[in-house]
Amino acid sequence: MFIDKSSFLDVTRDYMVQEGIHFKIIKNEPYKYTAKCEDKNCSWRMHASILYDGSTYQVKTIKGSHSCNTLLDNPAATYRWIVSKLFENVRANPNMSVKGIKNALMEKYNLHKTHNTICKAKRVILDEIMGKHEEGFSLLASFTEMIKVVNPGSICYIKWKDAENEGSRPIFQRIFVCFKACKEGFMAGCRKFIRVDGTHLKGFYKGVLLTTMGIDAQNHCVPLAYVIVDVENKDNWSYFFNCLRGIIRN
Ligand SMILES: [Zn+2]
Repeated sequence: MFIDKSSFLDVTRDYMVQEGIHFKIIKNEPYKYTAKCEDKNCSWRMHASILYDGSTYQVKTIKGSHSCNTLLDNPAATYRWIVSKLFENVRANPNMSVKGIKNALMEKYNLHKTHNTICKAKRVILDEIMGKHEEGFSLLASFTEMIKVVNPGSICYIKWKDAENEGSRPIFQRIFVCFKACKEGFMAGCRKFIRVDGTHLKGFYKGVLLTTMGIDAQNHCVPLAYVIVDVENKDNWSYFFNCLRGIIRN
């Protein structure tokens, strides 16, 4: 017996995945539910219905037994099902790769899901844990202010492009960050040259990270500043060097 229809459906989905089978729903009404195995040659059939309390669901009959082949890419294991089962694993290890999730599904559930399904599930979990990118961008202005409050003496500039239409939001263009400790470490203990490099960012919004490093007396890299820009071009590199010049000059 199940406390309601929703928990009944959750358990039947788990059952389908566990057994490597898939139901074809014959009747799905608020008060009764009938399903049979999707395999035409399999005689398995189940009927469930609601009890007099108007909530509790009970399986009334199960006829036949499965003679069908085990499904590896079981359609019952949707991306939402993967989210519900692996949420805590990804929360504990947000850097878990798609391949890692794929292996976990194979080990725990004998499931072989497509790359796209796993990517979608991982994106939903990360959005839930870390917030959506859109929300992150909307917090950038507060983030720059907090950097200055929590790390006094640090420098943080943010630039937005003008909104394309009246009433729409401005569009992120670039953010420059130099922590006070990095600047002081560079000025006090590094050789008088810097190294710069850029790398493309992955993810939905992409962008480019431009960084600069100093080298200390023991040949260790000392981060000095970074900027995140929309594209790598002359204008953004010039902006980065102008900001750096301002820091080193002061
Ligand atoms: Zn079957």
